[in-house]
Amino acid sequence: MSAPTWTTQELTAEHEKARKDYADLVARGLKLDLTRGKPSARQLDLSNPMLDFDGAAVDAKGTDLRNYGGLHGLPELRAIFSEALQVPVEQLLAAGNSSLELMHDAIVFALLGKVPGAERRWVEDEVTFICPVPGYDRHYGICERYGIKMVTVAMTPTGPDMDAVERLVADDPRVKGIWCVPKHSNPDGVTYSDETARRLAAMPTAAPDFRIFWDNAYAVHDLTDEPAEIADMLALCAEAGNPDRAFVFGSSSKITFAGAGVAFFGSSAANVEWWLSHTVKRSIGPDKINQLRHARFLRDAGGLREHMRQLAALIRPKFEAVDKILSAELGGTGLASWTNPTGGYFISLQVPEGCARAVVAKAKEAGIALTPAGATFPYGDDPDDRVIRIAPTFPELPEIEAAITGLAVCVRLVGTEKLLG
Ligand code: PLP
Repeated sequence: MSAPTWTTQELTAEHEKARKDYADLVARGLKLDLTRGKPSARQLDLSNPMLDFDGAAVDAKGTDLRNYGGLHGLPELRAIFSEALQVPVEQLLAAGNSSLELMHDAIVFALLGKVPGAERRWVEDEVTFICPVPGYDRHYGICERYGIKMVTVAMTPTGPDMDAVERLVADDPRVKGIWCVPKHSNPDGVTYSDETARRLAAMPTAAPDFRIFWDNAYAVHDLTDEPAEIADMLALCAEAGNPDRAFVFGSSSKITFAGAGVAFFGSSAANVEWWLSHTVKRSIGPDKINQLRHARFLRDAGGLREHMRQLAALIRPKFEAVDKILSAELGGTGLASWTNPTGGYFISLQVPEGCARAVVAKAKEAGIALTPAGATFPYGDDPDDRVIRIAPTFPELPEIEAAITGLAVCVRLVGTEKLLG
């Protein structure tokens, strides 16, 4: 974002124009929602064939999937997701419908039962997690719920600021984990470089039981024909002599049905055994019928890729529209910069320092609901008050166009007001 070069007179005129545009916007009485990254109805429709289930509910070995059992999840489905999540099939578990649930459980299991390599349960320490910011609000929610202290490090175009991460983990054994969304991160759309992944896997940590929460939520969610690639984190950890360092999470929430997908956990053999030692107490097996529905629908890794291409064709025009409107309305004003991601679910808009809350409030008054400013930071506190997360997937194109055009008016109004002092 380069500083605007308006004279005071020009700035006053810009502000007056923004005030008039804002009054017109409010008068339109819009009711638009860009808050959460949800698939649109048309995206969900692509997976509707899953609802027509016929044939026997048996796996490749003839096991009756209607019954209890199968704690690891359906082998055929694990095989389909093994490549995308970069986890060998035997170390990949297919579970319920939500990967967030698995991340929550991983924290609870680590608090109450010793993870491999731990000297004691995390509940006996004042646990700290590293949070690259901006990041995913629900990761922070889990930490807050369980009294885990959060320290932030800045996101860079290649992943978290690794110098800062290495400093934090080096001396303090209470620093037990880091949240990572390694591909098309929420909300910045950053894909970690191989060097970042290598440093995460190899860095010396004071905690022998340090864990990387590798939340690969957007593993196959590419918007271009050249998919972004990330390093194989489990392999890197093993090579670096830290085989148990990473927990890999993923799900089909934004592939098939967000409320009825399948979530995955992958890790070293020791971690998988530890995981199963806990989950065996809480369930006699996952919903294998839903897993079978997914396996039949997606067929194989190629089928998954083809399905993602169809989804991208629905999502891409929405991302392009946001970029086009922001460029037309705010380009060259110095009042905003924004990401142009190659995948994932979000666009991150940066406004002048101290303006994000006011922009979101003005948008709300005009009937445009946005993710609360600050939500992408622990405790809801963006210290610079600059980041606004835009989630363009759920609304249809005309609604997005109206909402982003309105949002741009709010940025111009608040931004010029700030410059006028
Ligand atoms: N992880 C990230 C980074 C997300 O952005 C989201 C949803 O927005 C999730 C996890 C939620 O995943 P699930 O639906 O599998 O619980």
